Amino acid sequence: MPGHIFGRSTRGSLPIAAAGEGCYILDAEGRRYLDGSGGAAVSCLGHSNEAVRAALHDQLDRLAFAHTGFFTSEPAERLADRLAAAAPEGIERVYLVSGGSEAVEAALKLARQYFMEVGQPGRHRVIARRQSYHGNTLGALAAGGNEWRRAQFAPLLVETSHVSPCYEYRGRAEDESLEAYGLRVADELDAEIRRLGPETVMAFVAEPVVGATAGAVPAVPGYLKRIREICDRHGVLLILDEVMCGMGRTGHLFACAEDGVAPDMITIAKGLGAGYQPIGALLVQGRIYDAIAAGSGFFQHGHTYMGHAMAAAAANAVLDEIEGRDLLSAVRRQGARLEALLHERLGQHPHVGDIRGRGLFRGIELVADRETKEPFDPARKLHARIKAEAFAGGLICYPMGGTLDGVRGDHILLAPPFIISDTELEELVDKLSGALDRAL
Ligand code: PLP
Repeated sequence: MPGHIFGRSTRGSLPIAAAGEGCYILDAEGRRYLDGSGGAAVSCLGHSNEAVRAALHDQLDRLAFAHTGFFTSEPAERLADRLAAAAPEGIERVYLVSGGSEAVEAALKLARQYFMEVGQPGRHRVIARRQSYHGNTLGALAAGGNEWRRAQFAPLLVETSHVSPCYEYRGRAEDESLEAYGLRVADELDAEIRRLGPETVMAFVAEPVVGATAGAVPAVPGYLKRIREICDRHGVLLILDEVMCGMGRTGHLFACAEDGVAPDMITIAKGLGAGYQPIGALLVQGRIYDAIAAGSGFFQHGHTYMGHAMAAAAANAVLDEIEGRDLLSAVRRQGARLEALLHERLGQHPHVGDIRGRGLFRGIELVADRETKEPFDPARKLHARIKAEAFAGGLICYPMGGTLDGVRGDHILLAPPFIISDTELEELVDKLSGALDRAL
């Protein structure tokens, strides 16, 4: 079909997604695809969820949109109250936007404005990690460490320091305990803040479980706690980006709860609207909001569609489903099942180097040699072949290639809907292992 739309690739054409049924998407030709990655960790409730559809119809019949310069709305107020109540200690305020990049941009600007308002105008630098993705808009792209995404836009990006990620598979020395490794890499942040001058640093940004750049890499125990201590020591704000790993994906509504850490700000999106509406949120410690309330009284930021009533109604319905159907327990249960299946089917595979993740957020790192951990030649574009083979076989998964902290490699990200059944999990792993073998 000739068309004028353009999106990611200018080559080839894509099937038309025509309908959704639970964990499956159907194309216009009637082919069924098992959604093993929720697109990119979005569709946590699967497709065509009845309760969310009903909530959206209901909101549409009352009000779709009222500009936040004039009004607030009942669904937006309710959503903010619920998120603040469920969030880690001290998080009291919620800023609603339309997606993950917008949430990260808002976090960076709020951090800067906060320091202006509390009389520390010298603080403007951001430190992040080499293994990270925080969005494609210019501020968020500058924070992220994904070289492939950044390279050609480098002249447009504000300078950001990047320290080591917490990437046990390749980073931990053989004779080093998990904890010692976590503390060692966390301490790089301390050194970098001292090098830059603490009075110039405003924020450290990190994903508690790294998503798209590396395939579900969780921090080792103790790492985030040490990061929190370092930020406190130097008066630097800790921004945790849970756009991918938040909203229940790891089996906890907020991934950082498992690490026992309360950040200054949290960004969420993706699973918040579960694909039913585009929505993201920035969650903020009360004292940050209070500083602005006591100062200028105005956060100098904003988007036309922020606090959108339909989007908030969808997110409320998603939360209702997560709570009402106890989907966090389902994520923990089915996550453990998926992990076991992956180990059973792929654990001994000669080209599977690592299987990792939390809950229904799992990653597989592929290597040419398991002993040396040598990656495949990037020219083979293995990740692209796996994606194509899986798709042809009726499975949506999220393979990526790129720099895995200094090493170019391939990984596969899995993030199926929280409602996935035992049989569907088996189908997922079956189709994935077939695709892997055909692609190799
Ligand atoms: N932050 C993280 C951790 C992400 O994974 C993503 C998207 O993949 C973003 C931010 C950007 O979100 P969006 O694509 O909704 O702008």
